Amino acid sequence: ATPTSIMVGIGRAAQMGVLFRKGDALQRLQEVQVVALDKTGTLTEGRPSLTALVCAEGFSRDEVLRLAGAAEAQSEHPIARAITAAAGKGLPKADAFEAIPGYGLRAQAEGREVLVGAARLMVREGIALGALEAEGQRLAERGETPLYAAIDGRAAAVIAVADPVKPGTPAAIKAFHDQGLKVAMITGDAAATAQAIAAQLGIDAVKAECLPADKVTAIAELQQEHGTLAFVGDGINDAPALATADAGIAIGTGTDVAIEAADVVLVSGDLRGVVNALTVSRATMRNIR
Ligand code: ADP
Ligand code: MG
Repeated sequence: ATPTSIMVGIGRAAQMGVLFRKGDALQRLQEVQVVALDKTGTLTEGRPSLTALVCAEGFSRDEVLRLAGAAEAQSEHPIARAITAAAGKGLPKADAFEAIPGYGLRAQAEGREVLVGAARLMVREGIALGALEAEGQRLAERGETPLYAAIDGRAAAVIAVADPVKPGTPAAIKAFHDQGLKVAMITGDAAATAQAIAAQLGIDAVKAECLPADKVTAIAELQQEHGTLAFVGDGINDAPALATADAGIAIGTGTDVAIEAADVVLVSGDLRGVVNALTVSRATMRNIR
């Protein structure tokens, strides 16, 4: 690649809203065989809303929403907004708040101990889910994310949230397939939820229930299976994966930490930007051979 042709390619990409932070990424993108994408905020909008709430015996919807809402009001996770929005105004103040990354949170409200998070949080805390587990599985198989609330050490409810797929996502996935690429999803979400969304989108491979460090392992596995890999993500927990991928692509609407770790930044959240990046890379490298 001559320096001039690379500069021209980078300029063309910039006009399409694709910013190369590192020039050698233009060369590496052309070798990509698999595109792996974070789910929440990358394939989807990252703005989940509450879709279902099923209480266990002895708990009411109002009580669960009030206490879970009070706890989530302290959290910055996108899931928190879904729950506080449904809980409404006039929530009690929670204290002793503790975020448990990849699991959920813990807090106290109205003198009661509140836990909200994934099934694995309840496993970790030794809380039996009982009949709520099957309910959660049913919701996950519809592509919704099941969360569990426990109050004073007892499973109180399963709360489902759903996050809409971005409008440009199906076209981007089709374009990757048309270019002969494999498409993978990497997510911290429940396996059944991730599988349902992947099936709906025609995604070839899924790595679910990943803690932030697991995303790096997932990338190594996908590289073994499919070859040179581009990873697309937006969150703080995507930064290690963006740094280890052959090409790291951050969504410009994402966190600064993700952008700093990436080789390429998309100005908009639309994944068709990734398609443009790959197309410019191929065109540039073809011209110089
Ligand atoms: P991702 O955003 O890719 O799902 P995270 O590591 O942020 O990955 O979260 C993993 C899982 O942990 C979520 O899907 C959810 O089940 C649970 N979780 C994290 N934060 C919260 C929260 N504030 N409230 C409820 N559940 C949470
Ligand atoms: Mg994300």
